[in-house]
Amino acid sequence: CNAAKPSSSSSVPSSKSPGANLVMNFPWSREVEQHLKDSFHLSKFRPLQLRAINLTMTGKDLFLVMPTGRGKSLCYQLPAVCSKGFTLVVTPLVSLMEDQIMYLKSIEVSAVMLNASSSKDHAKTVMAGITDPKGPFKLVYVTPEKIAKSKLLMSRLEKAYNANLLSRIAVDEVHCCSQWGHDFRPDYKLLGILKRQFSKVPLLGLTATATSSVLKDCEEILCVPKPITLTASFNRTNLYYEVRIKDSDNDASISDIASLVKSRYKDQSGIVYVFSQKDAESVAAELQKRDILAYPYHANMDPDDKSQVHRRWTSNKIQVVVATVAFGMGIDKPNVRFVIHHTISKSIENYYQESGRAGRDDRPADCIVYFGFADIFRISTMVVMENVGQQKLLQMVDYCQNVDRCRRSLMAVHFDEVWDNEGCSQMCDTCRHSKDYTTMDITQHAREVVQIVELATSMDEKLTPLKLVEAWMGKGPAKRRKMIQTTTLPRRQAEAVVVRLLLQGYLREDFSFTPYTTYFYMKLGRKVPLLKSQTHTLNMKMRTTGTGAAVVISLTSSSSSDVWLMFLSSMSL
Ligand code: ADP
Ligand code: MG
Repeated sequence: CNAAKPSSSSSVPSSKSPGANLVMNFPWSREVEQHLKDSFHLSKFRPLQLRAINLTMTGKDLFLVMPTGRGKSLCYQLPAVCSKGFTLVVTPLVSLMEDQIMYLKSIEVSAVMLNASSSKDHAKTVMAGITDPKGPFKLVYVTPEKIAKSKLLMSRLEKAYNANLLSRIAVDEVHCCSQWGHDFRPDYKLLGILKRQFSKVPLLGLTATATSSVLKDCEEILCVPKPITLTASFNRTNLYYEVRIKDSDNDASISDIASLVKSRYKDQSGIVYVFSQKDAESVAAELQKRDILAYPYHANMDPDDKSQVHRRWTSNKIQVVVATVAFGMGIDKPNVRFVIHHTISKSIENYYQESGRAGRDDRPADCIVYFGFADIFRISTMVVMENVGQQKLLQMVDYCQNVDRCRRSLMAVHFDEVWDNEGCSQMCDTCRHSKDYTTMDITQHAREVVQIVELATSMDEKLTPLKLVEAWMGKGPAKRRKMIQTTTLPRRQAEAVVVRLLLQGYLREDFSFTPYTTYFYMKLGRKVPLLKSQTHTLNMKMRTTGTGAAVVISLTSSSSSDVWLMFLSSMSL
């Protein structure tokens, strides 16, 4: 393998691509279909699964990019069962291995694993089985460390290869190869040895998160010069996306959540994601007070309590888990009907992952996020030290506030995909209520806000976002009220205007650290000079009817300097 050699992969996103006509007329087709039903107890394939299976059964090297929970494992487990010999599966985490082995045992597929904690006896059995022509195992799971460090394993694999017993190599979470990916594992770098030693064995790399540059890196590291790449759409068409405005009064949002859980989601299973461990405890307690079987889950709980909550929720004995993001790994419950975010996520990618735990059974499910003004700055504090943390948070805020575009299309940008409004089929609140929005001119409001910030700056005063809104609403000291133009807008709209000005670059955040906390202040943004021009106008879109009282506001600008503005706004996020 020449790692520096340029290699090209063919991407296969549409049904007209190579492999699309590989349907059910192969020598293995009947067996594949039978095992799907009889061994795996599944009624039909999900998009791309059959195509991936046929390609790997044909002996092609393949990269499969598919969102989490869509069923990548089946694409090597089913071929393993239908092939002679065994499939070698490289997995980064022992816990993932254990989950799979447990599952495969339950459906009577013979699978074993080798990792650092395997006993000598167990390792001996596995090593013997690998070269046994009777083929006692269909799948052998190993950690990348084993491939990199165990000479004995490599020599056994060599023997199996020469005896045609090594039928396929699956590298799960293949993005771990690349330093540019988010989960780099040094031992993945050494996996190129597999294809160098066992060149005739097809390799299948699987991941949910890979850009084309990461995949290119993986190709070179794994020494698979021209893999076919199958990419499934990240658009989850059965999920309904909705944003609700969260009042500064926390009780109101909890009551709202409770009434949803008790009416729309009666007897149905769901998750409420919260910001902190303290919130997990308090929101769960509040929901319990309202007769809902809700339990907290966070990293600081006793491991036994955590697994008990997980187990009881999985078996429908608990209706709601109120969790921090610690509730994520290994959750594979198919019938989750709602994922409610009591607080926004810190990025759209995180939101997609967290909300994506809804509706894995392909039936309709809801993803609702409560968008609160103060929460933006709570999360800012948390991400302030992260590299592009602030920028990612503002993208999430934009997702919540922007009603000019379908929520799906706002998400799609982050997966290098284009999902247009048609791909949504009214499965988001913006598309469903598109007739309920009107546009209003808020130029004057923007000038008032900017004037307050200017005044504070001139007096060398620091204005927190909350203070800014309150001053504008006339809640500041009487002396100050005389100096500024206060507003009659209701609080929600006042907050929405401030957020939008922040997103569009008329305001910006500044912060200062104390040993205990980080404070956020509002400063003038770089677009402020545009407001001085009499021809410059700002419009916002507002929801005028409908439930949820979600006054959702969106802002557009127009003026003689429109082109300049478009340039600036493209830089603002
Ligand atoms: P991934 O590795 O892509 O995150 P998994 O392979 O762990 O996903 O599969 C997630 C869940 O989807 C599993 O519970 C699996 O049984 C289920 N699943 C896979 N394929 C199908 C299918 N064709 N129909 C229904 N459920 C499926
Ligand atoms: Mg997986």
